[in-house]
Amino acid sequence: MADTEHDPSAATRHRHLPAVDTLLRQSPELLARWGHQQLTVALRAGLALLRQRIDRGEPVDATIGSIQRNVADQLEADNRNSLQAVLNLSGTVLHTNLGRACLPESAVAALCSAARNPSNLELDLSDGKRGRREVHVESLICELTGAEAATVVNNNAAAVLLALNTLAMGRQVPVSRGELVEIGGSFRIPEVMQRAGCTLVEIGSTNRTHLRDYEQAITGETALLMKVHASNYRLEGFTSEVPEQELASLARKTGIPFVIDLGSGSLVDFASLGLPQEPTAAAAIANGADLITFSGDKLLGGPQAGLIAGRRELIAQLDANPLKRALRLDKLALAAMEEVLKLYRNPSAALDQLPTLRQLTRPQADIAAQAERLAPLLSEAVAPDYRVSIAASASQIGSGALPVECLPSACLCVSPQAGSDSALRHLAAVLRRLPLPIIGRLQNGTLWLDLRCLEDEQRFTEQLEALAEAMA
Ligand SMILES: *Cc1c(COP(=O)(O)O)cnc(C)c1O
Repeated sequence: MADTEHDPSAATRHRHLPAVDTLLRQSPELLARWGHQQLTVALRAGLALLRQRIDRGEPVDATIGSIQRNVADQLEADNRNSLQAVLNLSGTVLHTNLGRACLPESAVAALCSAARNPSNLELDLSDGKRGRREVHVESLICELTGAEAATVVNNNAAAVLLALNTLAMGRQVPVSRGELVEIGGSFRIPEVMQRAGCTLVEIGSTNRTHLRDYEQAITGETALLMKVHASNYRLEGFTSEVPEQELASLARKTGIPFVIDLGSGSLVDFASLGLPQEPTAAAAIANGADLITFSGDKLLGGPQAGLIAGRRELIAQLDANPLKRALRLDKLALAAMEEVLKLYRNPSAALDQLPTLRQLTRPQADIAAQAERLAPLLSEAVAPDYRVSIAASASQIGSGALPVECLPSACLCVSPQAGSDSALRHLAAVLRRLPLPIIGRLQNGTLWLDLRCLEDEQRFTEQLEALAEAMA
C-alpha cells in the first residue's frame, strides 16, 4: 500500500469522495455560519486529508455527514481566539505575561459602556466645548496623591519617556548608578534616556550614592534630578541612597525639577495591610517630588496606564508635548481607571473589590483550606500516572514589586509517578490546552499550582473532566 501510484484501488476510492460543490450545496448551515470562501477552503483541506488517509490505506468515513462534522470541528478550532482567559496559578499575582492586574467588576462595566456607546471623552458637558480626556481622572489622582495636577498616558514606560523628553531633551539628567535598572523586556533606563533625547550623567556607585554626588553633577545643562525605584532587585549590605526629602531640597535650592519613577507606586499603605512596605505615591509627593510616574496595572490594580502627578506647570508642559498624542491613554482604559481610582476613596472598599489587593492579602489559611478541598479532585483526574500533594509555598507580588519578600501560600504539587522530566512537561502542556488553560510553575521536578489567585474555585473544578479525558 505504500506506493500509491501503482495502487489502482486508492485512485478508485478517491473518486467516491463527494465534490466540493456538492458539499457546499448540502451544507446551508455551515455556509451561513462561515461564509462561502472560508467554508470552501476548509472543505478542500478536509477532502485532501481524506485522500492522504486513503493513500496510506487507512479506513475512512467519507460520508457527507462525517465530512461536514470534521470540517465544522476544524473551523471552530481555528476560530478559537488567540487571546483567551487562563487561570493564573503561577504564584505570581501580577504576572506581566498573564496580563498583570485583573479589573474590579465596576471597572469592567465602565469599560464595556465606553466600548459600546459614544461618550463625553473629550467633550465638556457643561459648556459643550472641547475638553481634555484626562479630566475624567485628574482630580481623583490629585485627591489620592496630594498632587496639584495629573495626567495619564499609555503605560509607565510612556510616562517616563514623556517626562524625560518634555523636561530634559538635549540636556543632562544625573541618575545614581544603583538605579540604572532594566525593568524587563527592553525597558532600560539608560536606553530610554537616550531615546528621549537626554544625556544620562551617571553618578555615585552601584551600592552607594550620596547627596554630594548629585551636587557635584549639577551644571548649567542639568534639566532634572531623577530617582528610579529599583523595583525588581534589592541592594543589601553596605549601601546608601539619598532620601527623597534631601533630593527635593537640593532641587528647590537649584531650581531643577525632581522627578521620581516609582514603578509600582501604591495608593495605599501596604504595611498597614500586612504586606511588604512599598512607596506610596502620596509619600513621594509629600517628600517634595515635583513629578512622579507610576503604572496603572501593577500594585494599583487597574488597567494598563501610566499615571503622572505633580506640579501644575510641569504637567501642562507634558500635555503640550506633541508626543503626548502618540502616548495617550485609550478611552476603554480611561473608563476603567476612573472606577478603580474611585474605589481608593474608601480603602476598605478598594481592599474588598480590587482583585489585586484581595489576592495579595488573601490569608494563607484560606488558601491552604482550598488546597485540601481540591487535592483529591485533582488527584483523581491525573491518576494513575501522576500524584498530587499539598505544600506550603511562597507567592510573589510580581511586576517588579519586591521580589525578595514573598507571601505565604499553598500549592497543589503534581509530579509524575515515573519521575521523568518529559512526563512533567507533557502535564504542563495538557493543562495549557484545557478549555480554560491552567498556568502553573515547573520547579524541582514538580508542577506547582499556587492557589492564591484562584478566587472562583468552580472555574478550576470545571476543567477536571477535560483534564481526566486528556490524561486517559
Ligand atoms: C514597571 C516599571 C516601569 C514600566 O512600567 P509599565 O507600566 O510596564 O510601562 C518603569 N519604571 C519602573 C521603575 C518600573 O518598575
